[in-house]
Amino acid sequence: MKITIVGSGYVGLVTGACLAEVGNDVLCMDLDPAKIGMLNAGGVPIHEPGLKEMIARNRDAGRIAFTTDPARATAFGTVQMIAVGTPPDEDGSADLSHVLAAARTIGRHMTGYRLVVDKSTVPVGTADRVRAAVAEELRARGTDLPFAVISNPEFLKEGAAIEDFMRPDRIVVGSDDEEATRIMRSVYAPFQRNHERLIVMDVRSAELTKYAANAMLATRISFMNEMANLAERLGADIEDVRRGIGSDPRIGYHFLYPGAGYGGSCFPKDVQALLRTAEQAGASLQVLRAVDEANRNQRGVLARKIVSRFGADLGGRRFALWGLAFKPNTDDMREAPSRSLIADLIERGASVAAYDPAAMQEAARLYAGEPLQLRVFADRRAGGRRCAGDHDRMAGVPQPGFRGDPRPPEGPGDLRRPQPV
Ligand code: NAD
Repeated sequence: MKITIVGSGYVGLVTGACLAEVGNDVLCMDLDPAKIGMLNAGGVPIHEPGLKEMIARNRDAGRIAFTTDPARATAFGTVQMIAVGTPPDEDGSADLSHVLAAARTIGRHMTGYRLVVDKSTVPVGTADRVRAAVAEELRARGTDLPFAVISNPEFLKEGAAIEDFMRPDRIVVGSDDEEATRIMRSVYAPFQRNHERLIVMDVRSAELTKYAANAMLATRISFMNEMANLAERLGADIEDVRRGIGSDPRIGYHFLYPGAGYGGSCFPKDVQALLRTAEQAGASLQVLRAVDEANRNQRGVLARKIVSRFGADLGGRRFALWGLAFKPNTDDMREAPSRSLIADLIERGASVAAYDPAAMQEAARLYAGEPLQLRVFADRRAGGRRCAGDHDRMAGVPQPGFRGDPRPPEGPGDLRRPQPV
């Protein structure tokens, strides 16, 4: 099948590569010429294990290509998957401007039937708005070409995205259109050979399913963070508590790791967006509001420990920070707790030497032009030596990237856990 992916970020590239891997012809579109230029030159703009090799394999086989040309992209695929960003708007709701711009582009250029698939995480009711945007463009052109809009939220986890896409727990399709559902069944048939993974529901339920999933996961994290804070005060070991409760199948072990607060490109914004959706619907999500508040508090936990040990003025002190991305095996630093910690330390006069196994390029990009109090190290050994040898104390967001080799070269401390000072 010919499939166009609109938006070539974490979700768009993984989706495009995996759909090409199972034999589809895929064209990935993005407005960012630097991104597309890099992809066309054989590079991959993000760090995702296995992605570079998968893209190279499928490019060589002629199954995946990249473009900035919206007319070419719309003409290419019967299926048009929208995977553009939905960042938070000023009031916390999801900013749909990129999604609606993509929809209008499709309406402006389509010349035959198109199935528009909302893969971005979008609030309930967005498919209606996408449908209206396409229809408006068609009306302006004086045509009424057939099209359908469905919801197919993405559940991949950065760092394990290829595995998640190739072997999904479930594939949610929100569709009120029989032909669209049939096409989606055939798109996803190769990913569910042994087991039916497709859950078909109405569009609004699919849109809400994505937010409900992220809200539940964020709730588990905030719950465990609060338990960890309490355990620390009571002299209990949260790791033992985790094993003790995770063994209950009603609870399970996943997503019970306390840390410095959840971050990344999804949980913070999706929790906010769901709170806004509920507000607009006249409902009150009290649990989720508390989750959000607990997370804001947790993001300051390491800075508070440092201040309680050294005092508020950290002038002249140097800190080594291990782990910059919001979680292991990704270079994504959006809303990473490391960023608020760095800002806090530097504001208090400290200098920071930081290292991450995957996110050094992204860190260099984000902190280009920052004052010299922050140094990021491109090489693990050099970074390790400087981080380890150049510090007063270590602070860290736990990074299982370090798990197999918890000690930095010549360095002190066990990095398997955060090292509150
Ligand atoms: P991203 O920022 O990495 O990529 C989005 C891309 O869309 C960018 O490259 C941008 O240039 C491009 N873009 C913006 N407007 C465009 C337009 N009109 N036409 C073509 N391209 C356009 O974002 P992401 O992390 O891939 O997330 C995309 C969506 O998927 C979001 O709604 C997100 O919430 C959701 N999602 C993300 C993840 C994740 O782990 N990153 C997981 C599940 C769902």
